[in-house]
Amino acid sequence: MTTPPAQVFDGHNDLLYRLHEAGDPDGTTFLKGRPDGHIDLDRCRKGGFAGGFFAVWVPPPGGGHDLPGGVPVARDHALSASSQMIDIACSLETARPDALCVCRSASEVRAAMRAGAIAAVLHLEGAEAIGPDLEALEDFRARGVRSIGPVWSRPNVFGHGVPLSARGSPDTGPGLTEAGKRLVRACNRLGILVDLSHMNAAGFRDVARISDAPLVVTHAGARALAPSARNLDDWQLDAIRESGGIVGVNFAAAALRPDGRRDPDTPVSLIVRHILYLADRLGVEGVALGSDFDGAVVPSALCGAEGLAAVAAALRQAGLKDAEIRAILSENWLGLIGRVIG
Ligand code: ZN
Repeated sequence: MTTPPAQVFDGHNDLLYRLHEAGDPDGTTFLKGRPDGHIDLDRCRKGGFAGGFFAVWVPPPGGGHDLPGGVPVARDHALSASSQMIDIACSLETARPDALCVCRSASEVRAAMRAGAIAAVLHLEGAEAIGPDLEALEDFRARGVRSIGPVWSRPNVFGHGVPLSARGSPDTGPGLTEAGKRLVRACNRLGILVDLSHMNAAGFRDVARISDAPLVVTHAGARALAPSARNLDDWQLDAIRESGGIVGVNFAAAALRPDGRRDPDTPVSLIVRHILYLADRLGVEGVALGSDFDGAVVPSALCGAEGLAAVAAALRQAGLKDAEIRAILSENWLGLIGRVIG
């Protein structure tokens, strides 16, 4: 008998957007198989992908991740697309609670993982759907959302994201708006995690000043190793450590590679290099995974969720102890969720 792969709780994936884009409102292809994507039920079970933050990301009306210049999206469009993506997760849970559970707390995550269902914590990647007076915030919370990134890589009423094309410093514009500050305080009050992924430097500083929760970046790398402006400078890592926060290491080739290329021919050892660098700055307890599966070009050796065991093996090879590997693969996220969300 082969030993089952170590359980992973992951910081970021875009499965719901992919299902939405593919016109699969019930998530049927997640159950039946998605050989062209990174995540489906079978591949999750093969690789030990036991749960994660499931992003609700709103494409621009024209579609696609790759529009230059970070074109803003209208609230109505964001509201309807976000609702449809949350509906996909809820339909899946209703049809197959043994396959996927929408989780609202650390204990629900642990229960789902024990039962063998994928534990999905819903995350808004960009808060356009909420509106400047936070009209829809409680509604989204009621529907299961427990994590919000105020901005994606475009400006909105809350702040300014780092443009996807940006290289060099994340210092790309002004910080949070008054609505953005209100949103952070409301999230603190409601036990909703504030994700600083995609936020520019001024916004990061604003959240660090305002928020009373640990600073969290669900998917990014270290800018000392790779120059993407989406990656984190050492001063940001220091602020995250001081707050007791976490960084989920992004598997996106563009975030891992010193040349910033979206090249699938990127070794898994680069993921380990970012993990070790972050562990050095943050402590092992401040590092986790943030795969960006179904949202980015990742190292081809992983294929998708089924390849996660290769990350665990590479960490072992790098000399990490079993308890440290468990912390990075799942326990750090579960502890953080308990502290921030409940
Ligand atoms: Zn992202």
